[in-house]
Amino acid sequence: MASFLAFAEMCQALSQTQSRLQMAELVADLLASLDPVEAIIAARFTVGRAIAQGDESRLNISGRAIWKIVAEMTGAADQGEEIFAAATDFGEAIEIAMRLRASEPAPTLTIAEVERRLNAIAAIEGPKSRARKLEALRELLQLATSVEAKYIAKILIREMRHGVSEGMLLEAIARMASKPVAEIRRLHMLEGDLGRVVGMLRGAPPTASGPTATVRPMKPMLAHPVANIAEAFAAIGPELALEHKLDGARVQIHCLRDGARIFSRRLNEITPSLPEVGAAVAPLLERGAILDGEVIATDADGHPLAFQELMRRFRRIREIERLQNEQPVRLYLFDLLALDGALLIDRAYSERFERLSDTTRDAGLELVGRIVPGSLAEGERFFEAALAAGYEGVMAKALASHYTPGVRGRGWLKIKRAKTLDLVIVAAEWGYGRRHGWLSNYHLAARDEQNGRLAEVGKTFKGLTDEQFRDITGRLLALKTGETAGIVAVRPELVVEVAYSDIQRSPQYECGMALRFARIVAIRDDKSVAEADTINTMRREFERQLVRPL
Ligand code: AMP
Repeated sequence: MASFLAFAEMCQALSQTQSRLQMAELVADLLASLDPVEAIIAARFTVGRAIAQGDESRLNISGRAIWKIVAEMTGAADQGEEIFAAATDFGEAIEIAMRLRASEPAPTLTIAEVERRLNAIAAIEGPKSRARKLEALRELLQLATSVEAKYIAKILIREMRHGVSEGMLLEAIARMASKPVAEIRRLHMLEGDLGRVVGMLRGAPPTASGPTATVRPMKPMLAHPVANIAEAFAAIGPELALEHKLDGARVQIHCLRDGARIFSRRLNEITPSLPEVGAAVAPLLERGAILDGEVIATDADGHPLAFQELMRRFRRIREIERLQNEQPVRLYLFDLLALDGALLIDRAYSERFERLSDTTRDAGLELVGRIVPGSLAEGERFFEAALAAGYEGVMAKALASHYTPGVRGRGWLKIKRAKTLDLVIVAAEWGYGRRHGWLSNYHLAARDEQNGRLAEVGKTFKGLTDEQFRDITGRLLALKTGETAGIVAVRPELVVEVAYSDIQRSPQYECGMALRFARIVAIRDDKSVAEADTINTMRREFERQLVRPL
């Protein structure tokens, strides 16, 4: 078993070099010198992961708690200020404090022992769990030399500060295994955990890297938002398909001989919550298939229900049978990631879809509504029809694109129904180019009911015809109250209806939110400023968006 000190010393060496190559060498050498199980752990530790991915939150130990334990152990409490002033980071402060102990313990901790103890801390639950966690941490730190304590602290607060990012660790792993980095990156995408990648390359037994199942979910491919169908055509070209975008929840279904297993977008297993999905894919169990799709909840008559209702099904572990009758879910498939045990993610999407359609034809499974449009106009008609039918929007997918797990690539684009808000123009910028001479970039504001003021939430110059630009410029100049650096402030009187795709978090605006893809759809002369939408309305919508990913 390798000593934890060897790991700590490698980290020390890392912080003394800036050369990427040298860093990769240092990590690769250490990983290669360890047995497979410890190499897995050391890889995770190197990027500040105390335990296997997905379980970190259970550790729940703050820097403040670590400092409290160390201060008590070493009597450093009243020197805290000096110590932190002298140290370059939190870990170093812990090291300096630990050196105040009467004597250094001999280095006895192994890498595996540190991980075992961290896992044990994470596993502590129930009454007084916090105090018990801290006591277990105190025991660990008592066994640690000062420099080991420094790195235990850094791992716990996930701030290694030695410059090794996940990307560089992949380079080091590639060196360790004498394989091209691209291959390692791909493995990482598929496996979703650095430790597991190291384990595979080093031939660790499957149980060594934590609770590995016979089948592991793959991160789902994600989509990039664009404003409309024309933009999708511009980005992908005409070789694309359009699919209905269902407002449900993503599921990845692994069809295995001994049953189906269902995973959520966040890779949580939800098999027991969705028995009807398991039953629906029963005809494919012999095919070793991985299916990608969306489930939506319906009422007993088959009408779609709101997303929140679906969430109830996902969280449910009891009374599933009753709920299954009241709120059945319907499965719509849109991709096939593996068939007959072979991965298809490097095949073109057009081929994957064709095989999906062949494989599911006789099984009574439903595919998502889809067309391969012959023209932009046909695509736009499909989009309009999708919105009219109540879909959230459409997905545009490049026919030739591969399936890139976990990546928001350019192969998949999403075009959603634009939502609208009525907002007030509070300022405008002088345009340039085609818009020269017009006030064109409009600063938009919503009403803040709390203080009665108007709060800016975005800007746009999109959506207006030349004539409307001219008209608005005249009207805004009549409302002008001042001008600085090309920005004309106006009396807030003009209300416009603004379409947008999402609300995003934004430090730029005081209210903390901003509109994405804002576009003016109408000048609302029929509305007064008092009738404009509020920050509260926006916040509610923003929060609704937040509950989406599972
Ligand atoms: P968003 O959650 O807005 O980033 O959109 C991406 C999500 O849309 C995916 O993760 C799926 O859950 C969902 N979705 C709905 N219909 C489709 C479809 N036809 N293809 C891919 N994803 C879809």
